[in-house]
Amino acid sequence: MYDKKTNAYGTCRYREHRITIHKNFFLCCPDLDHVRSVIAHELLHSAPCCYREGHKGKWKIYAKEFTEATKDYIHHYTIQRTGSMNLANYNNITKYGIYCQNCNKWIDVRYKRTSVIKNIDECFCPCCGAKALKVIDVTNKDIRELGL
Ligand SMILES: [Zn+2]
Ligand SMILES: [Zn+2]
Repeated sequence: MYDKKTNAYGTCRYREHRITIHKNFFLCCPDLDHVRSVIAHELLHSAPCCYREGHKGKWKIYAKEFTEATKDYIHHYTIQRTGSMNLANYNNITKYGIYCQNCNKWIDVRYKRTSVIKNIDECFCPCCGAKALKVIDVTNKDIRELGL
């Protein structure tokens, strides 16, 4: 799942029946929702109805539906045309850790003030179901320290 020829996050090789995701995109420790979104982006290109549509037509319709359908969930997909990689974007950027005070563990991290971050008091922990989540600034922490 790695493409050395391009700077794109990923590609879809329709005729070869595979998608590729750039190795550096995984290694730079990005937002997991971003990784999922890029995989979904490429999978969408692999659908027969989206073949040859580029980022228009059915591809665009489904990308928008997917994004809308997940926008209030803890795992939020944003399927859009991706720019090329700028790995520096992932260094020293604000990170919002989501901590469950009932499980006493880190649940996830976000790199933007998504609706989950803004409405954390309304959200349920995906592990224990309790309304006990809080947001903690973890900008200076390596997310691996959080056990994520
Ligand atoms: Zn694309
Ligand atoms: Zn919990």
